[in-house]
Amino acid sequence: MASPTDLRTEDALPVLRRVFGYDAFRGFQREVIDHVVGGGDALVLMPTGGGKSLCYQIPALVRDGVAVVVSPLIALMQDQVDALTAVGVRAGFLNSTQTLDARRRVEAAFLAGELDLLYLAPEALGGRSTLALLDRGRIGLFAIDEAHCVSQWGHDFRPDYLALSMLHERWPEVPRIALTATATSATRTEIATRLKLDDARHFVASFDRPNIQYRIVPKREPRKQLLALLRDEHPGDAGIVYCLSRASVDKTAEFLTANGIAALPYHAGLDAATRATNQQRFLREDGLVMVATIAFGMGIDKPDVRFVAHLDLPKSVEGYYQETGRAGRDGLPSTAWLAYGLQDVVQQRKMIETSDGDLAHRRNLAAHLDAMLALCETVRCRRVQLLEYFGESATAACGNCDTCLTPPESWDGTVAAQKLLSAVFRLDRERNQRFGAGHCIDILLGKQTDKISQHGHDSLTVFGIGTELSEAEWRGVVRQLLAEGLLAVEGDYGTLALTDASADVLGRRRTVTMRREPEKPASSRSAKPRGSATVVADLDPAAASIFERLRAWRATTAKEQGVPAYVIFHDATLRQIAGDAPGSLAELSKVSGVGENKLAKYGEQILAVLTEDAPA
Ligand code: ADP
Ligand code: ZN
Repeated sequence: MASPTDLRTEDALPVLRRVFGYDAFRGFQREVIDHVVGGGDALVLMPTGGGKSLCYQIPALVRDGVAVVVSPLIALMQDQVDALTAVGVRAGFLNSTQTLDARRRVEAAFLAGELDLLYLAPEALGGRSTLALLDRGRIGLFAIDEAHCVSQWGHDFRPDYLALSMLHERWPEVPRIALTATATSATRTEIATRLKLDDARHFVASFDRPNIQYRIVPKREPRKQLLALLRDEHPGDAGIVYCLSRASVDKTAEFLTANGIAALPYHAGLDAATRATNQQRFLREDGLVMVATIAFGMGIDKPDVRFVAHLDLPKSVEGYYQETGRAGRDGLPSTAWLAYGLQDVVQQRKMIETSDGDLAHRRNLAAHLDAMLALCETVRCRRVQLLEYFGESATAACGNCDTCLTPPESWDGTVAAQKLLSAVFRLDRERNQRFGAGHCIDILLGKQTDKISQHGHDSLTVFGIGTELSEAEWRGVVRQLLAEGLLAVEGDYGTLALTDASADVLGRRRTVTMRREPEKPASSRSAKPRGSATVVADLDPAAASIFERLRAWRATTAKEQGVPAYVIFHDATLRQIAGDAPGSLAELSKVSGVGENKLAKYGEQILAVLTEDAPA
């Protein structure tokens, strides 16, 4: 392997090929790298999986001195360092989790100039000893990862990030690169201001994730629907299932386990050790399902998460996009699946109504929820709507979301809306009573329930006027009226109430277009399995069986070394090896993801797996 001195004189492209084993830069990686290597500051916005890491890792190798990487994710630093070590890059970290001994070794390596990258938690930079250490070494670059953590209005604010503006004053000649996957322009401006990146060049990528298939389905029996998704489309795949509450995380994890799917829970109610173990296992083992609250996920850079499923409605499009973005970082086909129903709308509206904070805060929450609901109810391409939300004008419908694959019909729901709103109106005005959606629907359907006879609701003029729709269809009507703000929910029992806008519908001044769910949702039509099955779908059976053998070899090797499987090789690399069946080390070195170091370390083993007789 080349000595570090050689690296410094190298151009970026040979480093990409030799160290990381990739053929070409992606998007504007090359521009960012040239700019930073040349000493310029940069602010980089790329979606998850866009390839941000190389934007600072390659300058770290090309520039003189050590690159200091500031990251809030101390639990993941070991994995990041392991992944770099695996390709022969000299990396270390300093944080509160390590022993004094380990710390001393890293400090010594830093001072001796024997590190290419040093990972630090932001709080370390507040301490005098770390600053003194940095003063004594030679720094070539500062990289500020997860830079949106400096934003006080964002969901991941870390006070320690505010102090990072001092980097510029203390080391004016060292270039800085800040990176984030948070898309909104408000956040971007805030990052630039707070980090004093006044002269930084901004690199803003498209936030499209073309390999992720977005699907939002009506919620019926959510756990069963989830199970069907996992069995039909993602057998043996790693994925994340998000639930709103800790209780439903536990129940869902138990349910999946009972049905033969390896699943682990993760939420803030579990003790720290259990959380750490479950996270470790998810990262290290193949094909585990993590059932979690949104407490899980930041910085999880496992590349082969094949699906992200939401069993409850996310509170905002930002949150939804961030969570679903954890699928498919390796660029292979992945699924973002959300089950959504009337109860979600009722529950979230109620949560906002009863939340602490002033009116402005509640309005803000409501605006975020409305945008999320609009995404759920749209009859347009989901991807176009998502990208527009983030300020990108997407062009054509994507062909890889549920509304593109199985277009829902829209229908004129004005009359249905009027019937439902009249029922709410009659109960309220004539009887001074309020009821939940279920009871109102029973009235429209003319059901003789105990509750109806007890209250004498069969004498209302709206009793039985809605038999043209089924109960499920009526629930869809209520849901869409709630989503559009034409109906409101109130109080602890989620009772229905009219809004100012309801009057326009009742007074025939406004029509209501509704979404009719397709008879068969996208999944059953595109019944071909995705995920790991897709990873091998375009391989012939012989190559597919080689892929499985390579995967088994990788699992054993990763276990021996105590690193995640993807640190050895990504799925995409194994797939290419299985397909190309290289016969020599020289041929193997051409596969994307096989760099110099991994070739030397695993090349012979891979060739042996390829030639070994397939089990009968
Ligand atoms: P981000 O940090 O932006 O979420 P990563 O840096 O983790 O993304 O990169 C996502 C994936 O893409 C990783 O698996 C990485 O190895 C791969 N990757 C990045 N750049 C390239 C490239 N130029 N060619 C091939 N693969 C790449
Ligand atoms: Zn689409």
